[in-house]
Amino acid sequence: MSYDIAVVPGDGVGREVTPATVRVLESLDVPFSFTEYEAGDGTLAEAGEALPEVTSQGVESADATLFGAAGESAADVILPLRETVGSFANVRPVRAYPGVDALQPETDLVFVRENTEGVYTGIEDEITEGVTTLTRVVTDDASRRIAAFGFDYAEQRGADVTVAHKANVMRVTDGQFLDSVRAVGDERGAEYDELLMDALAMHLVQRPADFDVVLCPNLAGDLLSDLAAGLVGGLGLLPSANVGTDNALFEPVHGSAPDIAGQGVANPAATMLSAALMLEWLGEDEAGRRVRDAVEGVLSDGPRTPDLGGEAATEDVTEAVVERL
Ligand code: ATP
Ligand code: MG
Repeated sequence: MSYDIAVVPGDGVGREVTPATVRVLESLDVPFSFTEYEAGDGTLAEAGEALPEVTSQGVESADATLFGAAGESAADVILPLRETVGSFANVRPVRAYPGVDALQPETDLVFVRENTEGVYTGIEDEITEGVTTLTRVVTDDASRRIAAFGFDYAEQRGADVTVAHKANVMRVTDGQFLDSVRAVGDERGAEYDELLMDALAMHLVQRPADFDVVLCPNLAGDLLSDLAAGLVGGLGLLPSANVGTDNALFEPVHGSAPDIAGQGVANPAATMLSAALMLEWLGEDEAGRRVRDAVEGVLSDGPRTPDLGGEAATEDVTEAVVERL
């Protein structure tokens, strides 16, 4: 048996960090079969569509997908692909790494973000000129599903859970979110804290070390995880997982970085760490841990890419990671 992995490098630095990560995966003794698919701005220019059907089908039928980045066409590529894998949970670990400058070196937490509803449902309207509305959708089903996922995730890691909400103002929608999360938490006898999301933003800046797993509605998770990214010093470091019931897509948090694309100096760490999340999701925990250790070792001892103050190329970092493995 081998794992069937769809690889979608996309645009810009995605075309550099994704092949680098495939090299790392190939150096493990885990049986993979990789199939590369096109998507993004380049594909739109060449084929007339940013997300060809063959790519969606490849992602749908694969065991998991490794995605790089899409440029201008991101919304037409990554949002449908997240839907294709049925992703209801967006998992974003945020960690400060030894050897990398961070505002808050104690940061080590994971955002578990609801990935299907809230204010990102796209239900917007212009009632009359200058008067617009947005419909925020929060369901018991989706809230229970993300809560169950978040509590499981925390339990596996012996981590504490903090639930972010604003139910004092959004009484109906975040009231629903909180009721559903409480129901799931109580069923399991789980202990957790509840915190208003604006207060949480402040506490994350002042004392990030006090948080482990932060369970969030969609928009809150988006904002708070980027805020936390600022605490650890670098977009080139943050991995993410879009997890569904039986499929998942793994991607760096960063985009196509057109300002440095084509120079061979993009930091591949975020994508390699995303691959580590993929290995764990596939059940290859040991291999996932090895990749993470190797990337952390290189972040700590170098070589480092220019975004981290070094002078190394993507290839040098990749070589160093493969050597450690
Ligand atoms: P996109 O529109 O695709 O999101 P962007 O211009 O927003 O592209 P990002 O990819 O979000 O660019 O990157 C923002 C900044 O972070 C840029 O200055 C970029 O060079 C830097 N950056 C992003 N990813 C990396 C990386 N892997 N290595 C080094 N620097 C990076
Ligand atoms: Mg961007």
